[in-house]
Amino acid sequence: MLLQRKILVVEDNMINREMLCDMLSSAYEVLDAENGQEALDVLKKYGEEISLILLDIVMPVMDGYTFLSHMRSDPSYSAIPVIVTTQSDSEADEVAALSHGATDFVSKPYKPQIILHRVASIIHLRETAAVMQRVQYDRLTGLYSKEFFYHSANDMIRKNPDQEYDIICSDIENFKLINDIYGIPSGDMLLCKVADVYKEVVGERGICGHLNADQFVCLVERRGQEYSDGYFAEINEKIRGLTDMKNLVMKWGVYQVKDRSLLVEQMFDRALMAARSIWGQYGKHFMFFDDEMHNKLVREQAITDVMETALEEDQFEVYLQPQYNIKKNCLSGAEALIRWNHPEWGFQSPGVFIPLFEKNGFITKLDQFVWRRACAVLQEWQERGYPDIPISVNVSRADIYNVNLPDILMDTIGRYKIPPQRLHLELTESAYTENPSQIIENVGRLRELGFLFEMDDFGSGYSSLNMLNNLPIDVLKLDMEFIHNETAKSVTPGILYFVIQMAHSMNLHTVAEGVETKEQLERLSAIDCDYVQGYYFAKPMPRGEFENFLKDVKK
Ligand code: C2E
Ligand code: CA
Ligand code: CA
Repeated sequence: MLLQRKILVVEDNMINREMLCDMLSSAYEVLDAENGQEALDVLKKYGEEISLILLDIVMPVMDGYTFLSHMRSDPSYSAIPVIVTTQSDSEADEVAALSHGATDFVSKPYKPQIILHRVASIIHLRETAAVMQRVQYDRLTGLYSKEFFYHSANDMIRKNPDQEYDIICSDIENFKLINDIYGIPSGDMLLCKVADVYKEVVGERGICGHLNADQFVCLVERRGQEYSDGYFAEINEKIRGLTDMKNLVMKWGVYQVKDRSLLVEQMFDRALMAARSIWGQYGKHFMFFDDEMHNKLVREQAITDVMETALEEDQFEVYLQPQYNIKKNCLSGAEALIRWNHPEWGFQSPGVFIPLFEKNGFITKLDQFVWRRACAVLQEWQERGYPDIPISVNVSRADIYNVNLPDILMDTIGRYKIPPQRLHLELTESAYTENPSQIIENVGRLRELGFLFEMDDFGSGYSSLNMLNNLPIDVLKLDMEFIHNETAKSVTPGILYFVIQMAHSMNLHTVAEGVETKEQLERLSAIDCDYVQGYYFAKPMPRGEFENFLKDVKK
C-alpha cells in the first residue's frame, strides 16, 4: 500500500476540527491537535514526516502565531508548509499570517474542494523544491553538484558578457592511495575540508562545485589577481594542515575563459588537462591551459574525426614482434602491436593514438580488430603446418570491464578455429591495481575458458609483490624501463633476480621487455628469465617478414 502523507490539523473548535479531518482523511493520514502546545508535541513526535499543517490562529493555551514562531525557529520543522485558517478574510489578517511565516491562508467557513486543492498543490510544490534542493547540492560536501554547477556557471558567463572569468579546478594526484592508507571515511573528510577551503577562497567572487570523486571546480571573476605556484602551494598547505595528511598531492589547473562559445563542461576539461599535465612534477602546484595544450586538443579532435574511417579503410595494420625463449635460444611467440599509416599524416605512433582511444572508447573496437587479425594469422599458420607458437594481444581496461568480453573472445577464436591457449591476453599492471576484485573475477572467468593471461608492464607502477599472490595470471611481463634500470646497476643479484625467483615459485613464466643489448640479455639469462622481447632480436614487423623467423622455432 502507498504510504499516505500526514497532515496535522490544529483547531480548538471540535466541530471545525472534525469537519477538516473528515474532509482530508480520504486522501491523507490526518493527525489533530486542540491548541498550539499540543501541536508542538505532535510535531516533536512526527517531525518532517508531516507534509503540511492547517493552523487556526485563535486558540486557548497557545495561539497559532506563537506556535508558528516556535516551529519556524527549529530547523528540523521549519520547512513544513503551514496554511493558516481564520474567521475573517480581511487583508490585515492575511498579512499578519503570512508575516508570521504561514505559507498560505484560507478563511472560514471552509470550502472543502478549495482546501483539498490548496493542500495538494502546496505539498506538491514543496516536495518538488526539496528534490531540486537535493540535486543542486552535493550531499557529501554541500558544494554545487556537477549538473547544477555546469548549469549555473554557463548561466553566469552568458548573463555577464563584460565580466572576465577563470575556471579553476583541482585534482588530488594520489587520492586512491590516500583512501587506501587512511580509509574511505578519512578520504571523505578530506573532500569536505577541500570544499571548505574552496568556499573560503572563492567567497563572493564566484561559485564552486564538486564534480567527481576528488575533482573540484570553481568559476571566479577575474579581478587582476596573479596566480602563482606560491599561491596554490599555500592553499595546499592549508588543506594538509586541516587534515593532517602530509603526503597529500594536489594539482591545480586554470582555464582563463576566452572562448565564451565553449560550454563550461569543456572549460573544465581544459582546466583539468592543465592540472594533469603536472602530475608527478614535484614542486609544481598549478598550470594554465596554454596554446600547446590547445593544439593537442585540436590534434586529438582531428584523430577522433577520422578514426572510424581509418578502420573501415584498412589504414591500421597489425605488426608482430618476436619473443624468444632464452634457454632454448629460439623463437617462442609474438606480440601483436598496432600500426597506423594515415594516407596524409603518414605513420602515427601508438603512443599518440592509443591513450586517446582509451579515453574516447574507440580502443575496444580497435582491440577487437587486432584480435581478429591475430586469429586469422594463427589460422593460416595452422593450415600451412607452421609451428604452433602463440600470439599475445593487448587487452585494454575498457575491454576487461566489458561483461561480454568472454563471449566476444570465444566468438573470435571460434570463427578462426583457434584454441584459446594460442591467444595470450596482456593486461597492464595498473589495471590490476585499480579494481582488483572485479578484475580477478573477469580474468578468472577467461582463464577457466582456457585463455592465458600476461601481466604487462610489471614494475612500472605501484606493483605490489604481495598482490601477485592473489592474481589469476600465467606470465609476468617485466616492464622495459624496469629492465633498463635494473640491468644498468652493478649490484648482484639485484631486485630483478628476486622478482624472477618469486615468479617461478608461483609458477609464473617471465618475459623481459625492451631488451636492446647483449649485456642485458646475458644478465637476464644469468638470473633465469624465461623469455625476452626487444630490439636486440627484432623490432615489430609486418606479418610477412615475421614468417621468415618461423623456421627458427625448435620443438
Ligand atoms: P606495450 O604493450 O608495452 O608494448 C611494447 C612496446 O615496446 C611496443 O611499442 C614495442 O614496439 C616497444 N618495444 C619492444 N621492444 C623494444 C625495445 O627493445 N626498445 C624499445 N625502445 N621499445 C621496444 P609500441 O608498438 O609503440 O606500442 C606502445 C604501446 O601501445 C604498447 O605498449 C601498448 O600499451 C599500446 N599498444 C600497441 N598496440 C596495441 C593494441 O593493439 N591494443 C592496445 N590496447 N594497446 C596497444
Ligand atoms: Ca603489451
Ligand atoms: Ca609492456
